[in-house]
Amino acid sequence: MKVFKFGGASVKNSEAVKNLGEVLEQYKDDQILVIVSAMGKMTNALELLAKAYYDGNEEKTELYNNVKNFHDEIINDLLKGSKAHAYDDIENLFIELECELETKPDKSFDKVYDQIVSYGEIFSSRIVSAYLNENGIRNRWLDAQNFISTDNTYREGKPDWQITTNLICNKLKPIVKKQMVITQGFIGRNKDNFTVTLGREGSDYSAAIFAFGLDAESVTIWKDVDGVMNADPKKFPDAIKIDALSYPKAIEMAYYGATVIHPKTIQPLQSKNIPLYVKSFINPMAEGTVVGVDKDKDVPLPTIISKGEQVLISMGSKDFSFIVEDNLSRIFNAFAQHKVKINLMQSSAISFSVCADNDPYKLPDLLKDLGKDYNVRINDGLELLTITNYNPQITEKLIADKQVLIEQRTRNTLQYVIK
Ligand code: ASP
Ligand code: MG
Repeated sequence: MKVFKFGGASVKNSEAVKNLGEVLEQYKDDQILVIVSAMGKMTNALELLAKAYYDGNEEKTELYNNVKNFHDEIINDLLKGSKAHAYDDIENLFIELECELETKPDKSFDKVYDQIVSYGEIFSSRIVSAYLNENGIRNRWLDAQNFISTDNTYREGKPDWQITTNLICNKLKPIVKKQMVITQGFIGRNKDNFTVTLGREGSDYSAAIFAFGLDAESVTIWKDVDGVMNADPKKFPDAIKIDALSYPKAIEMAYYGATVIHPKTIQPLQSKNIPLYVKSFINPMAEGTVVGVDKDKDVPLPTIISKGEQVLISMGSKDFSFIVEDNLSRIFNAFAQHKVKINLMQSSAISFSVCADNDPYKLPDLLKDLGKDYNVRINDGLELLTITNYNPQITEKLIADKQVLIEQRTRNTLQYVIK
């Protein structure tokens, strides 16, 4: 049994969906669970819609129409009249969303966000499933929420591993044994029956959760790149593809911002020794990258990982106290409470600096909270660069015309916060 995950780029328009069909054609006789993301940039579009709905903003209608028109165009391209009920299913989903947008929003923005944004994966998976069925790739559409049981942390749901694993093993596995299943990444459901998303780009994580529960033989993430590269090829033309990676090396790269794999994906797979393949949907016969080899097989290649849209938050006390245990615990608490992840930190006697993602939904509240007790300074428009297996030639070139705000190094890893 294999788990395949197709991200937004692999279903960004009707051509892409046709290509996905060609890839799956090769695996028709295998036992496969296929996980799809929302189409193209639809998650971003739905985020804006959720915000407008929550704020009671007039733009809501236009934003809704954008989402609807985008999908309608793909549906018209892909689905021929023969399967009228597929149209009806999808049309009904749109009516359902439209009705939801007419109700009074819940007080919690995060909860509202999840109920709206999750439609992206539902639309996408419905369209893909209907298209494949119409074109000879028989499959069954299932709602991932029936299997992924989460806590109540909206927008960053944590799966209840025991319940989820049981559901996947007992209810889903027998179905996948008989027929290809198309389902969604990114979404689960809590015990109150509300949708909970697993965090942006969380579909890879869903693939890992499903693979864990199915005891799958492998997971394949289909991408628009050849595999995991040692640097972003858009910024570094001489970037090369890495053929094989150990789990720890992949975790490290993903954690520091290599966007090919979501950081939470690896550990569940590692615990069951399930290999992860990263392959190109444009060139599906090519080797790609395999994650899961022994650590001594890791090639000591320098890797350059850049995380953009960073802010540096620097805090100094207002009461002349040093930034030691008491203050640090207050500061960490604030970060945990506002769910802002610390990407890098540095402390001195009188100030503490944190590099974090510039998340417009979370940062303002955090800053307001910290501002009560600290003098807070902000530096934005920054980049966090992480270089492993570094050497002087590479690092000099990387920071040549940049202003370095923080530098930290261990034997293997060098990190810069730069402007
Ligand atoms: N559609 C979601 C997102 O764009 C989940 C994913 O693609 O992994 O964040
Ligand atoms: Mg995506």
